[in-house]
Amino acid sequence: MRLQLLALLGLALTFTTPSSAHEPPGEPGWSFAIHGGAGVLERARMTPEQQADYKAALQRALDAGSKVLKDGGAALDAVTAAITLLEDDPRFNAGRGAVFTWDGINELDASIMDGNGRAAGAVAGVHVVRHPILLARAVMEDGRHVMLSGKGAEEFARDHDLEIVSPDWFATDERRRQLETLKAQNLSALDVEFKYGTVGAVARDAAGHLAAGTSTGGMTGKRWGRIGDSPVIGAGTYADDAACAVSATGSGEYFIRAAVAHAICERVKAARKLTLNGETEEVPLTTEVLQRIVDGVMAEVGELGGDGGVIVVSPTGKPVFSMNTPGMYRGRATAEGLNEVAIFADE
Ligand code: ASP
Repeated sequence: MRLQLLALLGLALTFTTPSSAHEPPGEPGWSFAIHGGAGVLERARMTPEQQADYKAALQRALDAGSKVLKDGGAALDAVTAAITLLEDDPRFNAGRGAVFTWDGINELDASIMDGNGRAAGAVAGVHVVRHPILLARAVMEDGRHVMLSGKGAEEFARDHDLEIVSPDWFATDERRRQLETLKAQNLSALDVEFKYGTVGAVARDAAGHLAAGTSTGGMTGKRWGRIGDSPVIGAGTYADDAACAVSATGSGEYFIRAAVAHAICERVKAARKLTLNGETEEVPLTTEVLQRIVDGVMAEVGELGGDGGVIVVSPTGKPVFSMNTPGMYRGRATAEGLNEVAIFADE
């Protein structure tokens, strides 16, 4: 009932408010968003040069995905184009530049989902696959399973001719220092990684299909084969053409417990259904209503004690961000000419 009211509110705003915050969704063109992790990103902790450097890296990934969509490509291809770039970029906690486990290795997780038919693929705890997101995609396309882990996932990668690298490929000095600090000072991952750095992308292509993907090294000092939300379909990643596409970043345990990505999509799906006089029809959501739904789920993560953020695209309107951290590396672009990258929550 509450969601129907929200949908009605969306309609009312559509027809009565001329300002850009309440614009009617109109014809859905392509739409794209990326993130490079959320966390304690505060202006005081980053020099202007570091901020410019991260923004340039985000812009490259945003442009790579946007180009695919602009050229009429598929949402899934836009997602993998951006994430493979970010996986190779040592600034981010995915692929090269991944954080270290307690045992001093890099252990990678990734997942991807196609909103058109809800096929999904995920991998956890891999050490030698250069692009975990491409491995997740291969698992999805193979179709027999959704989630593979460890040695078996790596064997699957070899069988599918994915690029294999030495485990050293992923290691960087900064991440090793973070592990040493964590151990020496008995800190938590959140103290040493002021930014989490996981990467993700969500896309809507010109045909209206949605896709989402996420890739991560997890959290510094993770032990016992710990796996976070990023490779868990419904927690860190979800896509459904009838609802939305979501990629999350943050303290993964909480995102799993709140089934964040699935929760957002289910609420969006419900809010798009309007029942009047006993007849149900699908209505477009305004960006404002979508934002309220996403903020509501993130507030629940906060109530559980979790920190982080999400990026979301829906079948109409602009991409939406939500975070309960001081910042999230992020960017969004649309067919209508929106193109922006940002770091701090107040940007
Ligand atoms: N969500 C990831 C995890 O818990 C970490 C992150 O977003 O940086 O593994």
